Amino acid sequence: MTVRVRFAPSPTGMFHVGGARSALQNWIFAKQQGGVFVLRIEDTDAARNRPEWTEGILSALDWIGIARGSYEGPYFQSSYAGEHRAAAQRLYEGGRAYYCDCTREDVQARTGPQQRGYDGFCRDRGLEPGEGRALRFRTPDEGETVVVDLVRGEPTFENKLIEDFVIARGDSSPVFLLANVVDDMSMGITHVIRAEEHLPNTPKQQLLWDALGVKPPIWAHVPVVVNEKRQKLSKRRDKVALEAYRDEGYLADAMRNYLMLLGWAPSGDREIVPWSVIEEEFRLDEVNPSPAFFDEKKLRAFNGDYIRALPVADFVEACRPWLTGTETIAPPPWQPEEFDPAAFAAVAPLAQTRIAVLSEIVPNVDFLFLADPLIDEAAWAKAMKEGAADLLDAAIVAFEALESWDAESLKATLEAVGAERGLKLGKAQAPVRVAVTGRTVGLPLFESLEVLGRDRTLTRLRAARVRLV
Ligand code: GLU
Repeated sequence: MTVRVRFAPSPTGMFHVGGARSALQNWIFAKQQGGVFVLRIEDTDAARNRPEWTEGILSALDWIGIARGSYEGPYFQSSYAGEHRAAAQRLYEGGRAYYCDCTREDVQARTGPQQRGYDGFCRDRGLEPGEGRALRFRTPDEGETVVVDLVRGEPTFENKLIEDFVIARGDSSPVFLLANVVDDMSMGITHVIRAEEHLPNTPKQQLLWDALGVKPPIWAHVPVVVNEKRQKLSKRRDKVALEAYRDEGYLADAMRNYLMLLGWAPSGDREIVPWSVIEEEFRLDEVNPSPAFFDEKKLRAFNGDYIRALPVADFVEACRPWLTGTETIAPPPWQPEEFDPAAFAAVAPLAQTRIAVLSEIVPNVDFLFLADPLIDEAAWAKAMKEGAADLLDAAIVAFEALESWDAESLKATLEAVGAERGLKLGKAQAPVRVAVTGRTVGLPLFESLEVLGRDRTLTRLRAARVRLV
C-alpha cells in the first residue's frame, strides 16, 4: 500500500505557522514512507476564501521547502461538489442519514438551553428532501468509535454521545466534515496528519468512512500551538503568519527547523540540526501530544545562529530583498543608485554576527548609502553632552592629518584624542558615532569609518559640529 498523506488548508487568511508545521510533518512522513504528499485547498467557504490566500499558501510552502511541482496537486475542494452531494445522497438512500426541519430554537425549546447537540427529533419522521431541510447523519446508538492515532494512542468515543450531526445544509450544500472525508477517500489518503483542533471531528468523520464503506485512514493529531500565556495562537492576537516571519528576515532553514521542534526533538542534546537529520529522525509516534509553545524569542536566537553559520557570500545574497525592497518588503531609506555593493560587501561580515533577523541589516548599514545619516534625536541628546564639541573639533583635526585611512589608525587616533581629555575610548566614540551614523549602537565604529571614507566622515563630523554651535 502506498502511503498517501495530504495537507488541506482553507484559504481564509494568512498562512498560519501551525499549518506550516503540519505541512512539514506530512511532507517528512510521506518522504520517509516512500509515499505521496497531496495538497488540497479546501476552498468551499466562498464567503471567506480569497485567491490571494491560496497563492500565499503555495508561495509560503515553497519557501519552507515544499516546492511547487514536487507534490500532487493542488486540488481544489470546490471542484468536487458533485462527489460531495453524491455521497450525501448515498447516505440518505442507504438509510444512514435523514432530513430534519428543526430550527435551533425548536431544539432548544425541547431540550433546554443547557443541553448541547441535537435531540434526534426527526430521526424517524421520514421527511422527504426539501428546501430548508438539513440532512443529518444517523449515528449508531451503541458501541464505540476507536480512533487509531499515531500521536494520541486510541482515543475512544461512545457513539451514543455523538449527536446526529448535519452533513448537508438546508440549501443542500455539504458541510466541511463530509466534503473533507469524501475528498480524502477519493484521493486515496491513508494517513491524516493534522492539528489537534480537529480531534473532536474525528469520530464523526470515521463514522462517515464506515458508513460509506471504506476503511478509515490512520490519524495523527499533532499538538495545538500556543503562545507564552498558553493560549492557542490566534491571528487576531499573535503574529501567526509565516509570511510575516519571512518578510522580517527569518531564514527558511531556521524556520522549518524551529517548526519541527514544536512537540518533537531530534536525538542528543541539540536543537539546531541539518534538515537531513530531521528528515531521518522525525517520528510521529514521538510527538508529544501536549500543547507546543511557539517561543518567538527562541526562534530569533535560532535565526541568529543560522545567519552566523552562512558563508558570507550567501549572507550578502540573503540580505538582498531588504537592500532593494520587494513586493512585500518595504524599500530601504536610500535610493537604488545610492547603494554601493562594494561598501556593503566590506561591512557584511561585521553585520552578520550582529543581527538576528535579516531586516535588521537596514538600520545597520543605512549610514553608508544615505547622503546624510538619519539622526536619532534621542541618541544625539545622549551623546552630544558637554565636551562633545571640543572632542569633535580635535577628532576632525586629527583625522584630517591621518596618513593612512584605516580602522586601526582611526582607532589609535581617537584613543589619543580621548586620552588627552581624560576620556576612555567608549566615551570618546559616542559623539563620533552619532555624528557619522546617527545612532548610538551599530557596527564597529572604526571599520565603519574606514569603509565610509575620509571625505564623507569629515563632512559629517563638521556638520555635527555646526549643529553644536
Ligand atoms: N481545511 C481544514 C483546516 O484548514 C483542514 C482539515 C483537515 O486537515 O482535515 O483546518
